[in-house]
Amino acid sequence: MAEETKVVGATAKTRLRRRLRFLRTRARELKMIGKALVSTKHPILVHIIPMRQCNLACTYCNEFDDFSKPVPLEEMKKRLDALADMGTSIITISGGEPLMHPELDEVIRHMRRRGMIAGLITNGFYLNKERIERLNEAGLEHLQISIDNVVPDEVSKKSLKTLDGRLVMLSQYAVFQVNINSVLGSGVKDPEDALKIAHRAVELGFTSTVGIIHDNNGQLRPLGPHEQEIFEEVMALGKRSFSRFNEFQHNVARGREHNWRCRSGSRYLYICEDGLVHWCSQQRGYPGIPLAQYTPEMRHREYSTKKFCAPRCTVSCVQQVGILDNWRDPQNLNPMPMTPPATPQAELVQIGEVRGDS
Ligand code: SF4
Ligand code: SF4
Repeated sequence: MAEETKVVGATAKTRLRRRLRFLRTRARELKMIGKALVSTKHPILVHIIPMRQCNLACTYCNEFDDFSKPVPLEEMKKRLDALADMGTSIITISGGEPLMHPELDEVIRHMRRRGMIAGLITNGFYLNKERIERLNEAGLEHLQISIDNVVPDEVSKKSLKTLDGRLVMLSQYAVFQVNINSVLGSGVKDPEDALKIAHRAVELGFTSTVGIIHDNNGQLRPLGPHEQEIFEEVMALGKRSFSRFNEFQHNVARGREHNWRCRSGSRYLYICEDGLVHWCSQQRGYPGIPLAQYTPEMRHREYSTKKFCAPRCTVSCVQQVGILDNWRDPQNLNPMPMTPPATPQAELVQIGEVRGDS
């Protein structure tokens, strides 16, 4: 077990602020669910990338580079305004490593100003007391860190050993909700690590979730019996998490296909650093239309478009969004024919692993 940093609890003032922000966010989440059930015309969740560059280089990840510049603040604001005008409920900032963006606090502030629930996925390496306080002040509501192992190895440095001190700081100073995601599946050396990470998360007062990796061909691969036991244990520990999605996750763990309607391109959008709309991080390249030109008709079309990758999909956030519409409106359209892009773009790809989200 990695050496743990001594825990000093949050002050009474921080605990009160945390409670108040939790209640406010929960009220907004309930409103978001009500709005989503009443109307299918707006995006529920959007992932947006303000920074493709990352300070790490996890060997399984294809969602980062080591050179790209931050998206300018004014451009980020324009994109956020376009999303707010569509009626978007939740925006999660992802990367690359978003904390490398020099004006991230203002990006978060703008999301809140426009009434959207603000989340952030980070590898956590840039967190310290001052940065956490700035995120508090900006109005962040959710933060997720994905931890891959207990001690760093050649695949990933996102380990409990390297991050534990930062997790303790979060438990002391963060007023936003923190979720720690661990992983199981192919490429994970020691499945027990996921359990240790989940226990540490709960000990520090966070929620915990577990992601399951599929193989390099994008195919589901069932977990072994021991991994499945660990999976069940981590899921039970994570029962406080609002975002858990047991049925889907149980199917993935057993390598079973699942029957659902993916509403990406409509109820879920992935906006890359170039401001293009994609189905999701695993299916980048389609529809590949600039956000500013993405019309309600296009969203409506994608709502009714059957996704070939749905039965074996492992993208849990889109699955969660899907719950709100799975019971209605069968999908009977095929993806639109694509016109050749003027400039080279990412091809439509099924990316083999799902951990490339910091
Ligand atoms: S990979 Fe999953 S989330 Fe992405 S488009 Fe396919 S079904 Fe939807
Ligand atoms: S998984 Fe996250 S931390 Fe690792 S290289 Fe990719 S973006 Fe960076």
